Amino acid sequence: MKAARENSVNVQVSSKIYDIPGTMIEITLLGTGSPIPDPNRAGPATLVRAGGQTFLVDCGRGVLQRAAAIGVAATGLSALLLTHLHSDHIADLGDVVITRWITTFAPDPAPFPIIGPPGTAAVVEATLNAFGPDIGYRIAHHDDLTAPPPVEVHEYTDGPVWDRDGVSIRVAPTDHRPVAPTIGFRIEAGGASVVLAGDTVPCESLDELATGAGALVHTVVRKELIAPLPVQRMKDVCDYHSSVQEAAATATRAGVGTLVLTHYVPTIAPGQEEQWRALAATEFDGRIELGNDLHRVEVTPSG
Ligand SMILES: [Zn+2]
Ligand SMILES: [Zn+2]
Repeated sequence: MKAARENSVNVQVSSKIYDIPGTMIEITLLGTGSPIPDPNRAGPATLVRAGGQTFLVDCGRGVLQRAAAIGVAATGLSALLLTHLHSDHIADLGDVVITRWITTFAPDPAPFPIIGPPGTAAVVEATLNAFGPDIGYRIAHHDDLTAPPPVEVHEYTDGPVWDRDGVSIRVAPTDHRPVAPTIGFRIEAGGASVVLAGDTVPCESLDELATGAGALVHTVVRKELIAPLPVQRMKDVCDYHSSVQEAAATATRAGVGTLVLTHYVPTIAPGQEEQWRALAATEFDGRIELGNDLHRVEVTPSG
């Protein structure tokens, strides 16, 4: 598991410059929901802007609408990073790829880098096949669209996956079994660092990936609320996610500066944010961030 694994090379990037200082990483929780549709929360997706580059981590339902709300278009993404292939995390994969394609007006666009665990290439290919009729209609109708959406898929389980213009990214395995393989991402720029855990139970490889990071973005499930439900399929949810306290304990073991909670199961009822924060505070002394979609967190080299 130690060697980096990838199935293609020659990543080309068209990065867009934002006014994010090079020494700061900005996290925006685009979607804080879960598989259950929520009128106020888009599906799991987090935007990370670092060193003039913009990374979308997972692409749950509604992601491009949330991104539009902060002025980020599909064409402004440097890469799509996928933690795993559960439906709630990739629900809008087709929308991201197709929308980027039809709104890129420059000729000969660079391929869109998509980085995920093994299995990602097959899912992307199947998605493009599902949109085959649409792709055909648009190529037939628009003279300047002559080829399907250009994408480059890279599959990894461990190791460095990106090193461009001062931004580096590495991945490590997480534990979301029986969903496997799954990965977390560590993004570094200008001395600042952010780790995105995705869905996982506590595990050593995540602890190692997150060691000393400025921020850890972690999905959470309130197990004490979900486990007693009289529905086995809901109880099952607890098996392969971290509770708020478990995510907080991971943050403490790894010595991160800020814990960012997302993917709230069940959804945070109005006025209950402090209850969630208090649960995390039982295991973690640092800054705790949580909130609604578009909640923004700045991470500096000091955390
Ligand atoms: Zn999952
Ligand atoms: Zn999930």
